Amino acid sequence: MAAVESTAQEVWARCLALIRDNIPLRAYKTWFEPIRAIALRQEAGGPVLILGLPSGFFVEWIEEHYGRLFWAAIRDVLGSSAQVQYEITLEDDPIALPPSPPRGLEWRATPSASAPMPTSPPLPNPMVLPGLQKPPFESQLNESYTFERFIEGDCNKLARSAAWAIAQNPGKTSFNPFLVYGGVGLGKTHLIQAIGNEVKRRMPSVKVFYISSERFTNEFVMAIQHNRVNEFSLFYRQIDLLIVDDVQFFAGKEKTQEEFFHIFNALHQSDRQIVLSSDRPPRDLQGLEDRLLSRFNWGLSVDLQPPDLETRMAILRRKAADMGLSLPEPVVDFIAQHITSNIRELEGAIIRLLAVSSSQSRPIDLALAKEALRDIIRDHRLNVTIEQIQRQVCAYFGIPEDLVRAKTRKQEVVLARHIAMYLAKKLTKSSLKTIGLHFGGRDHSTVIHACESIEQLLEENERYRKMIAEIQRKIELNAL
Ligand code: ADP
Ligand code: MG
Repeated sequence: MAAVESTAQEVWARCLALIRDNIPLRAYKTWFEPIRAIALRQEAGGPVLILGLPSGFFVEWIEEHYGRLFWAAIRDVLGSSAQVQYEITLEDDPIALPPSPPRGLEWRATPSASAPMPTSPPLPNPMVLPGLQKPPFESQLNESYTFERFIEGDCNKLARSAAWAIAQNPGKTSFNPFLVYGGVGLGKTHLIQAIGNEVKRRMPSVKVFYISSERFTNEFVMAIQHNRVNEFSLFYRQIDLLIVDDVQFFAGKEKTQEEFFHIFNALHQSDRQIVLSSDRPPRDLQGLEDRLLSRFNWGLSVDLQPPDLETRMAILRRKAADMGLSLPEPVVDFIAQHITSNIRELEGAIIRLLAVSSSQSRPIDLALAKEALRDIIRDHRLNVTIEQIQRQVCAYFGIPEDLVRAKTRKQEVVLARHIAMYLAKKLTKSSLKTIGLHFGGRDHSTVIHACESIEQLLEENERYRKMIAEIQRKIELNAL
């Protein structure tokens, strides 16, 4: 056979010429250019071409995606009895570690003799030898983050439908990369993992990998320390759907960004899907290199907005149902009205309700909800005015409200006035001066004196502690 006289390099160059014409250039560059022709041997069964590949993963990838083309080229150049043998030539990697096979391991492969080309169904895998075990691939996804559990509302419609489209066709839509951004607790992690879970469900063989940018950074640093950068980057290059959460943490970490940039390019070039999340839009991601940011803009960026009232209600009903709980509508309404900033807090509210209701053996009703959520709500919504405080305090002592503002020094009124001043300082953001003004134009030093005397009472006297706590509770409940 003529080819036997050729060198391995010549033979492989001819194969490459055939391959290059038949696949996208970037796929060619990614998968075929790194292959080296090592030797060509004539054996009894036919010519054997020995190829050096950077990792076992190349063998699998090429086999799976370009197997027919590869073998067509080999046979075209070397004849139908040709065989190929692989060697893994990991450069400058002093230690060979799993999942890469040990250095120097030879994989001998023969194409299935009967495979007609190029319109045949995929060949049986001729390159995977028995005994070569793939390590189990751990996606690191939380399985409960599914589309099914992701409630749709106006606040997330676009992001959800883009995510869904990607999950149906990873790497094949123009949404690559796909970046979801928005504030905390709005569902970024849930949505990007839902893509991963859906892809795994539909296509179990697709390699999906989820990681936070923080963890990516830590592992990269470890890889540097242990001389495993090569392995690190090869690992990422085998992934079909790479999900990286909270990319804002890459800010200022130049080496990590550079590594990620190369991984990004390698994956993107071979049409693999990249999904990212960030707590802000790409244009506000300071400390990220421009070349990386410009990559983020290649695909689609969409935001998640805080949920509107209807969505909050839907989420509450659904989450409660998931926990085997049915919330009375006034409770749903109450929580949805008061907890507005994000979805994580809605969940927190339900858990809190459950905890209080079971610890006190009380049914979940509006009164319980108001009580149980007092602390959570106070941070966000409670807007107590000085007038409300005066009203509640005076009602407690049974004195007319205007007396706290008047000049009277009757002992009972003085106590009520001091408590009201103390609570005004504690529960509102008003300055001492403003508080003084609300109490008949008193001086700020009077307010300080009042606060100090109440603090002393609280310290010394259990009865006053209970009394003032009771008044405060009334004020807060009233302000809800
Ligand atoms: P982020 O990553 O944006 O901080 P998460 O994805 O962690 O937010 O979401 C916070 C919590 O809210 C999670 O438990 C998630 O399941 C839930 N969640 C967020 N969005 C939705 C939604 N649209 N429907 C149902 N649950 C949601
Ligand atoms: Mg998150």
